Amino acid sequence: MTAQLDLATVLLLHKSSFLVGALCFLYLRWQSPRNEGLGILAAGFLFLALASTLSGYGEQKLLPAILWTLSSFTLGLGGYALFWIGLRRLSGQRRHRADWLALAIPLTGAIAGLITHFHVINSIRASAFNTGAFLFLAASAFAVVADRKSEPLPVRTIFAASLAIGATLCLAVVVGLLKPDILPITTTYAFFLLIISHFAIALFALVLVKERAEAALRRTADTDMLTGVGNRRWFLSQLPRFGWKGDALAVMDLDFFKRINDRYGHQAGDQVLIAFAELVRANLRATDCFARLGGEEFGLYLPKTNEVQARAIVERLRLATEQLHIHCDGQRIAVSVSIGFVVGQDAKSSWEELFSMADAALYQAKDAGRNCIVAYAPPPASFAIGIPIARTG
Ligand code: GH3
Ligand code: MG
Ligand code: MG
Repeated sequence: MTAQLDLATVLLLHKSSFLVGALCFLYLRWQSPRNEGLGILAAGFLFLALASTLSGYGEQKLLPAILWTLSSFTLGLGGYALFWIGLRRLSGQRRHRADWLALAIPLTGAIAGLITHFHVINSIRASAFNTGAFLFLAASAFAVVADRKSEPLPVRTIFAASLAIGATLCLAVVVGLLKPDILPITTTYAFFLLIISHFAIALFALVLVKERAEAALRRTADTDMLTGVGNRRWFLSQLPRFGWKGDALAVMDLDFFKRINDRYGHQAGDQVLIAFAELVRANLRATDCFARLGGEEFGLYLPKTNEVQARAIVERLRLATEQLHIHCDGQRIAVSVSIGFVVGQDAKSSWEELFSMADAALYQAKDAGRNCIVAYAPPPASFAIGIPIARTG
């Protein structure tokens, strides 16, 4: 079965694809007002729908050629310029004021048209228009890919691909107009494919907004709101399935934290938690994993770290905590931390086992007077768990 594509149907669909896209962007803007650029994208597609309508009227000889050619050319190119401005905003979530200068391109075209009347020659007008469309769509594809580093959403690749396909089709229309023999498809068919790419662009913009919202939700679910570090849920999700031999796990608990709250107030206590979390975060390796497990208790996972290295790391953290300078009402708040840690000895210890070992070592540190670190040692007899190995104050 072969499908016949007549120009009138294709032009109607072409206009409809812009209207559907504009409605889609407007709906998204209403539902997700925090996303930048959606209103401008909608305006871009509405301009394009209007331009397409004017050329439809023109083709039916309902408007004078001099009028519809210039207005559809300017509005259409303006629509693509707005589309690029909106897409850059949507993709990067930043306002680039200089982007508005892109509107100078359709304006220059309009002025050139008024002076030279180039727009009444169909091939020149259509070539100039589709070259502009190609440039704006290609630049949009580039923007979507370039923002991948700051926001690596999976949809970016396919979104950029659909924009690049749209750009290529515009280029194909130009080639078809200038050298019809070398184009493997008819201009009508290229238009038909462009319509599909418009639907795809609107669809992937929707997916981008959805993926962005999901990523934000995931971040919120995984982050401790006070300190900004990961929470217990995130910490557990980062651990390998089993605690491997040679990986260290530490549990850190601020000492006499209730007293800090009681003496200086809850807000000062919060400041201590924030400062401690920042201190640890600044002192870790890229592979280490640190989180607030709850209250004034924090967890630290140190992959591929033997006991000597783990001891050096947690002792450095303990010392740095002692030296934290947090002031309240002109007084320095004395802060210290007790740390229990364990290094996996078996190839496959469960995390429950490792956590209870680190916890046991932490209790030892508290029992030993606090502000110290204790490595878990398997009890030789029934009671001994670990020995304090560093203490000050
Ligand atoms: P220890 O040295 O034995 O750990 O004593 P501690 O006082 O640190 O421990 P305790 O468990 O008795 O008290 C912990 C306190 O931490 C009680 C709770 O009100 C406080 N706390 C828990 N979460 C927060 C928080 O988000 N902000 C503030 N300011 N305090 C918190
Ligand atoms: Mg405590
Ligand atoms: Mg505690």
